[in-house]
Amino acid sequence: TPRVFSGIQPSGGLTLGNYLGAIKRFVDMQGSGVETIYCVVDMHAITVWQDPAALVRQTRELTAGYLAAGLDPTRSILFNQSQVAEHAQLGWIFNCVARLGWMNRMTQFKDKAGKNAEKASLGLYAYPALMAADILLYHATHVPVGEDQKQHVELTRDIAAKFNHDFGTEFFPMTEPVIEGAATRVMSLRDGSKKMSKSDPSDASRINMTDDADAIAKKIRKAKTDPEPLPSEAAGLAERPEARNLVNIYAALSEQTVEQVMAEVGGKPFSEFKPLLADLAVEKLAPISTEMARYMQDPAEIDRILKDGAGRARAIAAPILQKTYEIVGMVGA
Ligand code: ATP
Ligand code: MG
Repeated sequence: TPRVFSGIQPSGGLTLGNYLGAIKRFVDMQGSGVETIYCVVDMHAITVWQDPAALVRQTRELTAGYLAAGLDPTRSILFNQSQVAEHAQLGWIFNCVARLGWMNRMTQFKDKAGKNAEKASLGLYAYPALMAADILLYHATHVPVGEDQKQHVELTRDIAAKFNHDFGTEFFPMTEPVIEGAATRVMSLRDGSKKMSKSDPSDASRINMTDDADAIAKKIRKAKTDPEPLPSEAAGLAERPEARNLVNIYAALSEQTVEQVMAEVGGKPFSEFKPLLADLAVEKLAPISTEMARYMQDPAEIDRILKDGAGRARAIAAPILQKTYEIVGMVGA
């Protein structure tokens, strides 16, 4: 059976980008003869500074977001990465498989380290090798991610292929990235050339899953656009990143194609389109944020769900790590 693995960092509050590019698609993949494993990747989050109390809250809030959006802990495995030590253990093996030259090509490191890369953590640099371990520890066949993670999933395939080649085995599968839909790269509302991110210092750049109706309407009203009305057809969006972003969000939220959306709103000025988009966003997000708040009332229940998930994840991961150690030549009991 196909096995799906993916994760989100508890590095801040969830955004509309995380919802459309990841969580909504995680929910859609649940069931129908697929095994689904979704992780709160707290070890990735600490590659940049996280206040410990905030990390605790963000881990529970992200789990609440998973649950509120429709992930079902009886049909999927939900857990946090640090509680299954095999991730770190396989991560080390992959640090010894991945090449410096490969890591140097990773654009996320360059974006996150910024100009002063000397001050970045070693963990931020090694992040993609740990991500490969997250995925390959379960022999996952499919990884739903946003467009920004495509390079890391390709690196995962390179690591699997080099491991298999070096040790003369077929042990690790070639995992497929799944990057589908109208909103695989939701852009910042302030800058059409940057992706929306939970760690962006500007709150106005993103819609948070916990924003109320007024905040959502205000952020969309203030979203940067050019002055022209929407084009009449989808092709006219090609050179207009901000307009394209808002239309893509509308399409993903309403589960339509961009062409269908343009048939409905093509030619409208932003003064008419933005309120439609705001109403749609509130209609889709409000029930989820209400549910999130309800789950957050009972942190012990969230912790219980994570602990149960960690046990089930470890049951899959431990034999795969043991076999990896054997292949590598680690003597064990
Ligand atoms: P950070 O700024 O801390 O990196 P993030 O918002 O980029 O946070 P991640 O935890 O790094 O979130 O990514 C979780 C998932 O959400 C990944 O699959 C990623 O591709 C997806 N994702 C993140 N941002 C977007 C976006 N703007 N549009 C679509 N998908 C996104
Ligand atoms: Mg990210």
